[in-house]
Amino acid sequence: MFSEQEIFYSVLAFLWVVYFWESYLSSRQRYLARTVEKVPKELESVLDQETFTKARLYSLDKSTYGFWSGIYHQIESTLILCLGALPFVWKLSGRIIGQFGYNEDYEILQSITFILIFMLYSTITSLPWSLYETFVLEEKHGFNKQTLPFFIKDTIKKLLVGMALSLPIVSLLIYIIKIGGDYFFIYAWGFMLAVSLFIITIYADFIAPLFDKFTALPDGDLRTKIEALAASIDFPLTKLYVVEGSKRSAHSNAYFYGFFKNKRIVLYDTLIEDYSPPKGEGKDEAKEEEVKEEVKEEETKSEEEPKKKTGCNTAEILAVLAHELGHWKLNHVLKNFFISQLNMFLCFMVFAFLSKEVVIYRAFGFDTQPTLIGLMIIFQFIFSPYHEVLGFIMIIWSRHCEFQADFFAKSLKRTRELKSALVKLNKDNLGFPVTDWLYSMFNYSHPPLLERLKAMDKTD
Ligand code: ZN
Repeated sequence: MFSEQEIFYSVLAFLWVVYFWESYLSSRQRYLARTVEKVPKELESVLDQETFTKARLYSLDKSTYGFWSGIYHQIESTLILCLGALPFVWKLSGRIIGQFGYNEDYEILQSITFILIFMLYSTITSLPWSLYETFVLEEKHGFNKQTLPFFIKDTIKKLLVGMALSLPIVSLLIYIIKIGGDYFFIYAWGFMLAVSLFIITIYADFIAPLFDKFTALPDGDLRTKIEALAASIDFPLTKLYVVEGSKRSAHSNAYFYGFFKNKRIVLYDTLIEDYSPPKGEGKDEAKEEEVKEEVKEEETKSEEEPKKKTGCNTAEILAVLAHELGHWKLNHVLKNFFISQLNMFLCFMVFAFLSKEVVIYRAFGFDTQPTLIGLMIIFQFIFSPYHEVLGFIMIIWSRHCEFQADFFAKSLKRTRELKSALVKLNKDNLGFPVTDWLYSMFNYSHPPLLERLKAMDKTD
């Protein structure tokens, strides 16, 4: 069929085609952020010049950061492929387990070692990037709320949780593929389906709380009104939380999560105007220190300018939730889950054919055919054109769902509040509202602000 070289260089070439295409799209958007210095006419009613300039500079800085991190990652992937880092680390993993008296027949053990090495490597090499992004880029534009100890703890927690989840899952998956016989792809898919359901089930109760603090939304006007909204559309609301997102950043959001009986609504504390967390909890030293720091910051800021109000009022939050509940009422969550499972099934089916092709392993410098390597090469590299196309379709689908959810909020007569909430959120998050059509088409899972406002106006 294809030779080793043909496979290898096609994968490499495709990687670069995608890179150049994405860089081209970004450069189109960057051009707008550089040249459109005044609030466009159609946005004058919703956005002041000062906020527009701030958003423009933030967007430019993010774009520059994206440019450099893009080049770095592109060169890194190219070097990993061309220098044969994958077979090298695979053999290294074999030697490491050899030290403990296991030979290369212990493929699962060798695979786990291989994954551990790559997880450590990527945690370490991504550190300068995430440090810069958090403490320079986000800091400069007033979004970062993390302290360095918080950041370090967070990074270590992420690594440990990632290991605790991925190592047993990958081990079992390899085992199933190895003993599954001709129809292993059905069992492998069934296993991954079970894993997805398991993670969805435990995520909100056991994983997310490791990273952020969730508290039940206290009784009061907001809670009563949210419950009434949920009841009016038969949403079985059992869990309503506020997440202390302000510990991380000033960005705000709200989301709906879960299936069946496990549904919950989560509001970022930064979304709620004048939100103060329930009092009466013991403070440890670190917390007090942080509080002090915050106070200091506020003091210095207030000398320059009065503190601006951020977040949404009750009616606007309800409109945002009406949109989120629209995603539930219109079955978007279930549909997305179904699509991702169908995709997983197709991928495993094609993998079942391709994984027998020795030439694919040889193309990437492997003399043997370890299952993990097959999964990595085929899912990540061989499928990449398919993933690009699927990603494009999914982003169109996602925008369609957003419009639908907006219309749902509209059917609940919350258009006016939703529009003002979207404008406020866009301001608070410094979204740059001028978008290049081609860039936006390939990158925005949510339609640009102006399009959403216009769409809601249309059938008024
Ligand atoms: Zn939405």
